Amino acid sequence: MSAALLSVSGLSVNYGHIEAVRAVDLSLQAGQITTLVGANGAGKSTTLLALSGLVPKAAGKVMFDGHDVSALPAHKLVAAGLVQVAEGRATLTTLTVRENLELGAYTRRDGAAARASDLERMFTLFPRLKERENGLAGNLSGGEQQMLAIGRALMARPRVLLLDEPSMGLAPIVVQGIFRTLREINAGGLTIFLVEQNVRQALKIAERAYVLENGHVVLQGSGRELLDEPRVQEAYLGG
Ligand code: ATP
Repeated sequence: MSAALLSVSGLSVNYGHIEAVRAVDLSLQAGQITTLVGANGAGKSTTLLALSGLVPKAAGKVMFDGHDVSALPAHKLVAAGLVQVAEGRATLTTLTVRENLELGAYTRRDGAAARASDLERMFTLFPRLKERENGLAGNLSGGEQQMLAIGRALMARPRVLLLDEPSMGLAPIVVQGIFRTLREINAGGLTIFLVEQNVRQALKIAERAYVLENGHVVLQGSGRELLDEPRVQEAYLGG
């Protein structure tokens, strides 16, 4: 296997006396979708927050493209290309769709032409957002807001896109659309790390998958392998 684009080793995170994440090792291969699945409270969001530099690590090392980024603050990690999709579709509801997308490119230092062409790319990827370009983000449906949140993150030109439960609270048909979009984005070469409670859908699209229970990685394999794994079927796929 080639060297990982991003790897985490020995990650532990505490909230006071709560050991939310314990000695987690995982790695993302460039160009692949990797998923971290598990039940409510397993420590998935915490793992992602620690990767993004948004909660302190009690222990652990994060290597990104050959560099030790364990000590970098969140904004430096974003600048390096580790970009998390805003959770709970935290789009800025009083701004238009276009303004939200433009904000995503705020930290970029390349020129206006590159940003404009990326904006057009987003409208091609999300035709529905093009239709609502000048409408307020607050008037979008839940699924559209999730698309907008993804689009906004893509406008930052990530090297790794991090997502925390993009399917949360959405109808199954909308969830399918989101997962289809993730596949499409990944087919364009982007490395994706997806945290999900929708275990079936996540394993279906992931080349590599990890199962987290009580802060520990208890199983890992390809998405396909884990879909066929009796322990996964029993615990997460309804037997
Ligand atoms: P969910 O899908 O519900 O977000 P999760 O797998 O992402 O679950 P985490 O949110 O990472 O799990 O939570 C892991 C553990 O840490 C849980 O026991 C949770 O109650 C606890 N926890 C999470 N955030 C905090 C916090 N800010 N303060 C204290 N405890 C927390």
